[in-house]
Amino acid sequence: MSQKRSRRIKDRYFRALRFRKLQAASVLICAGLIVALALVTLLNGLRGKNTNAKLEDIAAFRISSESIAEFEALSIKYRLDFYELLAVYCHDNLFFPDKSISAPTNIERDYVLNYKAVVSRVYNNDTKHYEQMFRNILGDLRAFPIAEGYDGEYTFLDSWGASRDYKKGRIHQGTDILDTENTRGRLPVVSMTDGKIENIGWLELGGFRIGVRAKSGAYYYYAHLDSFAQGLKEGSIIRAGDLLGRMGDTGYGEEGQRGKFAVHLHVGINPSVEFAENFWINPYPFLRVLESSRGSKTLATADKSMER
Ligand SMILES: [Zn+2]
Repeated sequence: MSQKRSRRIKDRYFRALRFRKLQAASVLICAGLIVALALVTLLNGLRGKNTNAKLEDIAAFRISSESIAEFEALSIKYRLDFYELLAVYCHDNLFFPDKSISAPTNIERDYVLNYKAVVSRVYNNDTKHYEQMFRNILGDLRAFPIAEGYDGEYTFLDSWGASRDYKKGRIHQGTDILDTENTRGRLPVVSMTDGKIENIGWLELGGFRIGVRAKSGAYYYYAHLDSFAQGLKEGSIIRAGDLLGRMGDTGYGEEGQRGKFAVHLHVGINPSVEFAENFWINPYPFLRVLESSRGSKTLATADKSMER
């Protein structure tokens, strides 16, 4: 009887001991999980703070065309991927949120000469998206949107983000190229890219407008035209440099409304990015790149004519 009892007591004791061990182990496991979770959250928070650019800063694209040209030259010189280099630079500087690029970086020293280290410090999934965006846009763009032979007869500034009076609350999401003579129907507007005409016709804000979808998926928007080039319709396949129409002052009203503002072409670029919906990027630096590359083409032609 007493033997049985003592065995029962022993059993109970060992059961309690096992239970306490289990309890201790599960407390330890839980604590470990909590600490790990906290660490991951903290690291993510820190990383987010350091690397995530704001959409509005990416869209404003405050990079000079000279910097873009310098990146292109350096990427050729050092055999680096131009679009990756540009994406790494923009990402590292969070697309310049302070709006002033007052202290120019020494791009060659700071980015190119220790490129591998910079890439491993900066490059992540976001950088990949920026790289693809630059690859699309800079790969698509081949012609300045005003036909050759009209230098000095148009002018344009960076007016990204300026407020607009008609239908207030909007901000300017493009670049306006103005006719210095302010004469509707005068300057020939050409496509900047190859692609397919996705939209052609009237929009209240855009007036007579054409939207071209390039193979990359990016969308190029030309607004306020006075007239369309003959034969263009939805689905037409066009090439960079093809005539789209004439510059005008249409829009801000019912179909055919003219004269609500100066004669100009509104250029819009929507690169169809994965990280945002209906995302437009400032075309200004890209237009300056196109304009200067046209200058060099003209020079090359001049050289040829001198040889003859
Ligand atoms: Zn505009």
